[in-house]
Amino acid sequence: MSTEPRLIVVSNRLPLGDDPSGGLVVALEDALRSSGGVWVGFSGEVTDDPAPDLQDHPGAAFQRLSFDLTPQEHDEYYLGYSNSILWPLCHGRPNLMRIRPEYLDGYARVNQRIARMLLPVLRPDDRIWVQDYHLFPLAAELRALGVENPIGHFLHIPFPGPADCAALPNPAQLFDWLSHYDLLGFQAERDLGAFAESARQLADGDQVAPDRFRLSGRMVRTQVFPIGIDAAAFITEAADAPDSDRMRLLTGAKMMIGVDRLDYSKGIPQRFRAYQLLLEKIPDLHEKISFLQIAPPTRGEVEAYQDIREETEHLAGRINGQFATLNWTPIRFIHRPFPRPVLAGLYRQARIGLVTPLADGMNLVAKEYVAAQNPDDPGVLILSRFAGAAETMAEALIINPHDPHDLAVAMAQAMRMSQAERRDRHAALLEGVVDHDVAWWSRTYLEALTVR
Ligand code: ADP
Repeated sequence: MSTEPRLIVVSNRLPLGDDPSGGLVVALEDALRSSGGVWVGFSGEVTDDPAPDLQDHPGAAFQRLSFDLTPQEHDEYYLGYSNSILWPLCHGRPNLMRIRPEYLDGYARVNQRIARMLLPVLRPDDRIWVQDYHLFPLAAELRALGVENPIGHFLHIPFPGPADCAALPNPAQLFDWLSHYDLLGFQAERDLGAFAESARQLADGDQVAPDRFRLSGRMVRTQVFPIGIDAAAFITEAADAPDSDRMRLLTGAKMMIGVDRLDYSKGIPQRFRAYQLLLEKIPDLHEKISFLQIAPPTRGEVEAYQDIREETEHLAGRINGQFATLNWTPIRFIHRPFPRPVLAGLYRQARIGLVTPLADGMNLVAKEYVAAQNPDDPGVLILSRFAGAAETMAEALIINPHDPHDLAVAMAQAMRMSQAERRDRHAALLEGVVDHDVAWWSRTYLEALTVR
């Protein structure tokens, strides 16, 4: 048995047993396996009797503590405060917030319930690692119950600057919640900067050292840990995917791919408009480029997600109507998730990977696209400057997604880029993706949490 202290991971959702494992799940399960511990999270079930359930993970190296949500909790904590207030706020869209007092009540209540169910399984030297924006108040709730263990938070999405934070009904409360953590982890320097500025302006935060903040009379450490992917697995899956030639012959065009949840933060309408501009300006590209956009809808109960679905479907239809020929469909727009090995094969076939969010914590698709390329004949990554990934992926074509001209020029440049330039850019990008993979991320975070 390991001599490391146990690890308690708390996340909004427990991974499903039959999930096609994402990189984050693999990394957190590896960390749990090596030190033992418990992964705590929502089961995905909405029921009237949400009792917690503690079970051994298959292999018994760690346990899983799952809980259901009542319909009211699901509305107020998950769809409400988390995804109709914090998500738009952190993605620079305060105008899309739906502020209702009952959302905050539900959010606080669920976090309190998680703290109470965690208490009996906690041991004095456990380390607790809280994931993401659904759980900001958890450390405060645990401290109120007398828990003194090291508690860290990692925010997977951007941190809002002072102008956006000020749109919260009670901005100081956010910083009070955060002050109970020992370590706050962010995706990018940009987020750490926004946190520092917002804490100073809205909560009298005092930066006492580059990585130390005094907040509500407590000391909190802050650090940037850019998350990565399971690069080795992706490289193998993409290389093992069936050969792409058949697909190229079928379409006779070079493929441009976008893979996103259908979310208003991802800049999908902006990239559709840029593609429309490209086809208007460069008729030579007709029938030589084909755009595959894969975007499964999420959070369909929230109105802003219904709106983005309508807008994107409308635009795709208009572009196809304007440019399609008897043997060419300019955009294929698919609302379905695909298993990871299929995605890896599609990325590898695509001459252009289009990652153009208006705001994004990191964006893992950018890293997956790079890992999936054939190093001898790689495709080109077009990356928004507003993705956290842009801080460490300078060899991509970095664009402003709000500017259709800038994006259309990058598409044209990628279409005609020489193989030598594509190889050079790809080699540099791949090195970063491999060196800073998701195992590196979780190891680095946990080392920092352990040094108090
Ligand atoms: P976000 O977490 O906001 O959705 P990221 O780009 O960081 O954005 O992560 C998205 C993850 O979801 C990636 O690992 C990507 O492969 C996966 N994904 C997105 N769309 C699909 C899809 N259609 N099928 C399967 N996986 C998908």
